[in-house]
Amino acid sequence: MMPFFREDFGNAASRTHAFGWRAEEAVENARRETAELIGASAREIVFTSGATESNNLAILGSVRRALAHAGSHSKHIHVITSSIEHHAVLDPFETLRKSGVEVTFLKPNATGRVEASQVHKALTDRTALVSIMAAHNEIGTIYPIAEIGALCHEKGVLFHTDAAQAVGKIPLDVRKSQIDLLSLSGHKIYGPKGVGALYVARRKPHIRLEPLVYGGGHERGLRSGTVNVPGVVGLGASCRIAAQEMEEESFRLLRLRDRLHEGITERLDGVHLNGDPDRRLPGNLNLSFENVPGESLLVSLKGLAVSSGSACTSQVPEASYVLRRIGVAERLAHSSLRFGLGRYTIGEDVDRAIGELVTTVKELRKLQKSSAISTSERPDLQDSQVYNRQK
Ligand SMILES: *Cc1c(COP(=O)(O)O)cnc(C)c1O
Repeated sequence: MMPFFREDFGNAASRTHAFGWRAEEAVENARRETAELIGASAREIVFTSGATESNNLAILGSVRRALAHAGSHSKHIHVITSSIEHHAVLDPFETLRKSGVEVTFLKPNATGRVEASQVHKALTDRTALVSIMAAHNEIGTIYPIAEIGALCHEKGVLFHTDAAQAVGKIPLDVRKSQIDLLSLSGHKIYGPKGVGALYVARRKPHIRLEPLVYGGGHERGLRSGTVNVPGVVGLGASCRIAAQEMEEESFRLLRLRDRLHEGITERLDGVHLNGDPDRRLPGNLNLSFENVPGESLLVSLKGLAVSSGSACTSQVPEASYVLRRIGVAERLAHSSLRFGLGRYTIGEDVDRAIGELVTTVKELRKLQKSSAISTSERPDLQDSQVYNRQK
């Protein structure tokens, strides 16, 4: 990326001089590297600012185009997604729902899976788009996208998948899985932030998208605006490295993840796994701890960079909507932790994490017990007040 920050300032769209050519060559090289990771061809890659924008372009872009063509029948368009998608998918669908489009939010099972049979049942002859993620960001669950892709293909319905978590982590092939639209993100695969891509299948009949951003007609008119050359070069490089390392790396992560899981459950009772035990991203572990106040847990783990499943956007942390929607009890949803293992995680880190976590949970449980005794002595004090005091 560095030469394109410091020396090569060319605009990839400037075809009239050498500076532009060098930038264009670098961008087209990155386009090929990005395409190769998912089994696409370079012409099918549209660079964006990340998976959020890619999701918005795929969902709003395809449905708005369908709406424009349906004219007065616009109210009759139907789309399908699941209730635990990332907000970058849920919110565009919510916007469409408010404007009169019929949206089916499929309910996943207790491990967070959405089955192809559910999609099958929900399809109608008015369905224009199905969007199901390839792997889940909070609980790591992997979805049967090849089955869903085959189903959509058979019915002539567009299939979009948010693959921000799956790309570069598990094998993915847009042709084999019959995917029409796929979102990916640079910073989820060790690339730069603020850059990503949307794969748009070149097929007949053509997939038509209404752009979100109008202007100079860059990226086949789907995403106007000067391309972020250093960012795109970084995305391409991260795709190339991910393709080289994925197989070995996923095996290594799987072993580390199991070591972390076993290390915790061997030393602690009352630990629940959230998500699917088998069909799961190798670097993801999401656990709930009984009898531990969630907020205390997160703040006590000083040496660990973990998150609760939830997005703590406000001062009052809310339990993860994902865990609640797959039926995890409110209390357990509050005391959940999401561990992410990655390229720079080594066995030593895992052992240190186990040590700190086990000590912390045991201490918090001891505290919880002693405050429980004080409640039974003070029947006027409700459980929730004890909980608040501990916060
Ligand atoms: C991170 C993530 C996004 C958002 O990606 P950005 O590139 O940060 O916009 C969308 N979906 C999933 C599943 C993600 O994990």
